[in-house]
Amino acid sequence: MDRDTRDAIAGGFANVVSFDLEHWYTATLLRDEVTDPVDRIETSVGIVLDVLDEHDTTATFFVVGEVAHEYPELIGRVADAGHEIASHGHTHTPLFELTPGAFAGELDASADAIEAAIGERPAGFRAPNFSVTTRTQWAFDALIDAGYRYDSSVFPVETPMYGVSGAPVGPYWVDRDRPFTDTPPGDADGLLELPLAMFHPRIRIPTAGGFYGRLLPTWLLSRGIRNLNRRGIPATIYFHPWEFNPEVRVDGVPAHKRFVSFYGLDRAREKLSTLLSTHEFTTCERVVETYDR
Ligand SMILES: [Zn+2]
Repeated sequence: MDRDTRDAIAGGFANVVSFDLEHWYTATLLRDEVTDPVDRIETSVGIVLDVLDEHDTTATFFVVGEVAHEYPELIGRVADAGHEIASHGHTHTPLFELTPGAFAGELDASADAIEAAIGERPAGFRAPNFSVTTRTQWAFDALIDAGYRYDSSVFPVETPMYGVSGAPVGPYWVDRDRPFTDTPPGDADGLLELPLAMFHPRIRIPTAGGFYGRLLPTWLLSRGIRNLNRRGIPATIYFHPWEFNPEVRVDGVPAHKRFVSFYGLDRAREKLSTLLSTHEFTTCERVVETYDR
């Protein structure tokens, strides 16, 4: 065991591991490319549950409401294994394409579908495509008014598709009027934001997951987690269950979309396994509890 691994374990710092649970072919780059897709959701989730079980780790699954509606038993199985079920919207529509009213409807519908599957309403939300930005900051009103305890949608670096440059890199309390500023809990509106992990507070390379997580080497992801933990910041990382299932790869997708969508699928399981054995991880809910006001 190297020094970095020892430090991480000795630190015992609880980070967040999360999975966005949607159909693989609804990913932005694929949704216009794939016709007649094969459904891989049960096998993909099965792979992830096995890895988590091997490492005795609980995670948060941000579930699309339509998926909860279609697969209530699968969602029940995830919850029964001790994992948290949170909302990933109802139809996986990015907030850029929704009005505030339609978004409130998405929140309600997804919570209803999750409640029907597991008997509980979700405490947390993650926007499809991290689509909570300065353009859609009205989303915080809807989340606060619907009683959500936390959100995990802020990507604290600007990318062509999403992100908020200068947003806090660690969990912070949200004031609905200045939702990308760390606010003292007494002045905030009761919602904690868990932004997605960056490599370093000043070197904002996204190391949270997805394409970057598949592209970047494990040691770099691991170093990023340690950079945050050393500053007292839990890292929030994310994957999609389909990223662990090489069977989702399809032909007929343009080369660049194929690269971004499918690069690194064969090594994803080993990567997750290494991260879970190197660092301490738990659910969003558990980390939010440590930020009690
Ligand atoms: Zn998603």
